[in-house]
Amino acid sequence: MRKKIIAGNWKMNKVLSESNQFVNAVVGKVPDSEQVEAIVCAPFPYLSSLVEKTNGSKVKVAAQNMHFEDNGAYTGEVSPVMLKDLGVSHVVLGHSERREYFAETDETVNKKAHAAFHHGLTPIVCVGETLEQREANETKNHVEAQVKKAIEGLSDEQVAETIVAYEPIWAIGTGKTASSEDANEVCSHIRNVIKEVTSEAIAEKVVIQYGGSVKPSNIEELLSQSDIDGALVGGASLEAESFLQLVEAGT
Ligand code: PGA
Repeated sequence: MRKKIIAGNWKMNKVLSESNQFVNAVVGKVPDSEQVEAIVCAPFPYLSSLVEKTNGSKVKVAAQNMHFEDNGAYTGEVSPVMLKDLGVSHVVLGHSERREYFAETDETVNKKAHAAFHHGLTPIVCVGETLEQREANETKNHVEAQVKKAIEGLSDEQVAETIVAYEPIWAIGTGKTASSEDANEVCSHIRNVIKEVTSEAIAEKVVIQYGGSVKPSNIEELLSQSDIDGALVGGASLEAESFLQLVEAGT
């Protein structure tokens, strides 16, 4: 049985005092269950204090992006070496907002996935279609191409550990959630693609999250689907109480 992974993606929100308040409210309250894992994906400035405050708890800390190089003349960038050194465990790669506004491509996502594993970080790789692509019936082909490129050259063991987040772009921050059946259809397609590239045994291990307007009122329905193993949640993850409800739904 795959465990459920609930990741809260704060995006560019909160100041330090709010980050501290959140973590103080959440640490100790996250269910002590082997079935669910809770991750907070926070802006870079808070990672260090979040790692410290979540130490020994069930809450893991993720960055929302990173560069693929270890170090060097890349002003403004943060490397996997730095994240690992801070004690960060996961990193979100290829979020649609990074693809749209910051020129992230399938190629850079693939380089970053390799770099993440090289440094012992677990990547959460985001894929998903635009509304135009969905309406043109291109969802599966598009997501398939994104997944194939993202995992290109990874070992089977690395693929098994990769978390894939299926986030239809039209559902992000819009209040429009994909129906749980539609979301599951794409997540199951992703698992089949991974099976083609690796094997059934590996594909069965991969945690596939759904993201896009997930909230406490719809998470149970989404998690009840065969191929949805968790959620990447933006808006509804910002309040501690709502984040805890989302995690609780995974138990
Ligand atoms: P949302 O964001 O839950 O606010 O739709 C999800 C995401 O972008 O990860």
